[in-house]
Amino acid sequence: MATTTENKQTQQQIVTLPVQGMHCASCAMTVEKALKRVDGVESIEVNYGTEKAKIAFDSSKVKLEALNEKIGQFGYTFLMPTEQVSSPSVSTVNKHDHIAEAQSADAQVKQRKLQELKELQHKVEFALPITALVFIAMMWDIAAQAFPSFPKLPIPMELFNSFVFILSSIIVFWIGNVFLDGVVRFVRHGAANMDTLVGIGTFSAYLFSSFLLLFPQIAGLLGLPRAMYFDVTIVVIGFITLGKFLEARSKIRTGAAIEALLNLQAKTALVERGGQEFEIPINEVVMGDVLIVKPGSKIPVDGEIIEGKSSIDESMVTGESMPVSKRSGDLVIGSTINKQGTFKFRATKVGSETLLSQIIKMVNEAQGSRAPIQALADKISAVFVPVVLVLAVATLITWLVVGSLFLPFTQALSLGLLCFIGILVIACPCALGLATPTAIIVGVGKGASSGILVKNAESLEKLNKVNTVVVDKTGTITKGQPEVTDVISLTGQDESAILTLLGALEKRSEHPLAEAILHKVAEKNLSTVTDATNFESIEGQGVKGTIDGKEYFAGNGRLLSSLKLQAPEAHMNTLAAQGKTPIVLADSTQVLAIVGIADTLKDSAKETVRMLHKQGIKVVMLTGDHSATANYIAQLVGIDQVVAEVLPTDKAETIKKLQAAGRIVAMAGDGVNDAPALAQADVGIAMGTGTDVAIESADITLLHGDIARLPKAFRLAKKTMQTIKQNLFWAFIYNIIGIPLAAGVFYPFFGILLNPIFAGAAMALSSVSVVSNSLRLRTVKL
Ligand code: ADP
Ligand code: MG
Repeated sequence: MATTTENKQTQQQIVTLPVQGMHCASCAMTVEKALKRVDGVESIEVNYGTEKAKIAFDSSKVKLEALNEKIGQFGYTFLMPTEQVSSPSVSTVNKHDHIAEAQSADAQVKQRKLQELKELQHKVEFALPITALVFIAMMWDIAAQAFPSFPKLPIPMELFNSFVFILSSIIVFWIGNVFLDGVVRFVRHGAANMDTLVGIGTFSAYLFSSFLLLFPQIAGLLGLPRAMYFDVTIVVIGFITLGKFLEARSKIRTGAAIEALLNLQAKTALVERGGQEFEIPINEVVMGDVLIVKPGSKIPVDGEIIEGKSSIDESMVTGESMPVSKRSGDLVIGSTINKQGTFKFRATKVGSETLLSQIIKMVNEAQGSRAPIQALADKISAVFVPVVLVLAVATLITWLVVGSLFLPFTQALSLGLLCFIGILVIACPCALGLATPTAIIVGVGKGASSGILVKNAESLEKLNKVNTVVVDKTGTITKGQPEVTDVISLTGQDESAILTLLGALEKRSEHPLAEAILHKVAEKNLSTVTDATNFESIEGQGVKGTIDGKEYFAGNGRLLSSLKLQAPEAHMNTLAAQGKTPIVLADSTQVLAIVGIADTLKDSAKETVRMLHKQGIKVVMLTGDHSATANYIAQLVGIDQVVAEVLPTDKAETIKKLQAAGRIVAMAGDGVNDAPALAQADVGIAMGTGTDVAIESADITLLHGDIARLPKAFRLAKKTMQTIKQNLFWAFIYNIIGIPLAAGVFYPFFGILLNPIFAGAAMALSSVSVVSNSLRLRTVKL
């Protein structure tokens, strides 16, 4: 997808573009290195997993076209953004519609990948039978040499050689053209990648053998061995091409999650304009439009119901499997499905603002991000190719110099050549480069389809290390829809009078507690005489305001002490011991009344805490509420530690203390007054509500404010990291054992030498197994 952010003053542009022609992890490195050197490029990050480059550059110094030309020298191209660039008059409505942008760019990329896959398939169909035949012949020959009783191949040697010479010419120049290109690029620009390695290995085997076949007399004069390696050339290229095909096929599947999200988008909307209904394309819907949704159809964009009611299946976006009933005033999410009723709603978010669009953007970015664990693999891949080239040459020379002291020269040359080819073939850092990004792509996609949005790869990696979760009480453990349960008068005023005063005070507060009071006021049909004037909200304590010329306060014990008033401790403690939040109404001289407000626990709270404990994670509850209230609730759900009566500004401090005590902390909150705490935590987890996921300070967002997804997020992190580690382990092991084996290090001691054909098979297998292992993440149960 191509996203462009432009800043007029500095002319700085950040673009994310698909890169074509990358065949391995070192390709990503080559592109990075090539562009880093260009004047005007500020930063560049190329991801081999997503095959995209994120470039920050100064557009007054360098143009995108120039960058494209630069990487063109090395055989790569950017898929340039096609949209609006040249048409400044384009309607502003959906200028940055991520869905449309992503759809067009991703569709192109997908198209190209399918094309590549098809070409690879043709090649495999041609090369595989030949490879198999030659492979069998080789095995036969090996067996015949090992067991004298084994019948010899029933083909005259000369004929066989001429036959495989023709076949291998086709294989080298057609099937293996990418490898030859790699050699040509190396010769011209000094840029080497895995194709170069395979190319040099196979092409030198081919050239050497052709020379022997075509000029046997000269070869004889030079004392060269009679052995030819056409079969090796065929089998290595055959296996690696097969591997590439399987890898490409699996890799297309790793991106399935994004594609599924993109396909969710409704295509049209039924709009009501001037009393008439029209069907319009989705991108023509503007904010404020009144849209009609019929049963069974998709809700086009985000909005608020203004007429009618229905039950809505939101599972595709939020992962919530139960249909949700909604009526006038409730928010609906674009791309979810209306099950029953017909309703009208007003569009509040369109284009890139919609929840789905935000999710897609986030998933896209997260999938392209780099996990810190990848750093080592990246460092190794960066130097791998040149190191291996040197190593291969050094091995050949060693065999010639040292080997010929013990062996006849012709034999030392044959063995040296085999080792040379073997090293070049086996040492490709492909699997190493695929290990992390493929697991991240699948893991992030898996999360998105389960309502767990991950900001970047690093968040997942950090989440896996967390051993303490701090949860906010209101809205996280409790539903955040409190109700007034008790009204206790201390001065003889009746309930209505008390509630009227409280209602006037709380009218402008946005706290859930204020809502509870206003709800009660409405329920009792009390008309609030006047609004309070001089309203002021006191963070973490309560509110104050003037009613009929007199100043009133509503809040907690802390508020009372700041007023130098004696708190009615006994009453407050009684309420708190029942898990209710005591709110005191006072004027500047005395306490007038206390109301008790109870919030119901979320159904999943207790089970969630149990699951977290099972995962070895300690749960701490953090709240501004009365400590007895907090303790009561904590004990109901089995929370380990309570930190209560904390001012919002001190929440981050509490996290810091836990961190200082050596804990690795994730903070889960609704982001209302805990943003600093979310930011302070090692991992900030926001409970997404309504249609907003863009909580800046959050590393992870749980859609639908569903705390039950917390243990799932931990499992996702654990499984993803496990997969990455397995992948890295196998990729490293494969090279650590493969290279010395191919170099013939064990030959003098055990007589073991890795035939290049097995190197080819192993190399193909390693990439395929890494990608398949990552794909397994899709089926993990969270
Ligand atoms: P939480 O940890 O639940 O988010 P807050 O910091 O928002 O807590 O609030 C802490 C306490 O401050 C509440 O428990 C309540 O006693 C008091 N308070 C906050 N806002 C109000 C309000 N609008 N009216 C009355 N009391 C309030
Ligand atoms: Mg809160």
